[in-house]
Amino acid sequence: MKTRIEIMVSQDFAALHNYDHAPEEVKFLRTPHRHMFDVRVWIPITGDRQVEFFMAKDSLQTALSFILAEGYKKNVRLVDMGNRSCEALAQLVIAQMENNACGNPAKRFFVSKCEVWEDGENATIVTADRTEE
Ligand SMILES: [Zn+2]
Repeated sequence: MKTRIEIMVSQDFAALHNYDHAPEEVKFLRTPHRHMFDVRVWIPITGDRQVEFFMAKDSLQTALSFILAEGYKKNVRLVDMGNRSCEALAQLVIAQMENNACGNPAKRFFVSKCEVWEDGENATIVTADRTEE
């Protein structure tokens, strides 16, 4: 049997965001509101313990720190992601982990999929499509 192996690491955090152009029916989303975001990243591997969980998680945490650094608001002690969506966050996480703009090549990981969950209820799933690369 042929198998494919991936590992998954995750990190959750509380943050604010808003949806500037939310439809009228859900216009309350236009104002900043809090979610528990849970970011889950899949990394393909080819063998036993090829990637260490803790190292992959460190890369995810570094990527999130880099992405969210500018949004911290002292008055509410939370990151405010502004108009950033789950879709946008997932794509930024993939880009950061693969290209590591944080500057440490050891923290680069090939990512096959990233999920961003809101409150454990709804999620965006971004799958890397490499057929055009
Ligand atoms: Zn929201």
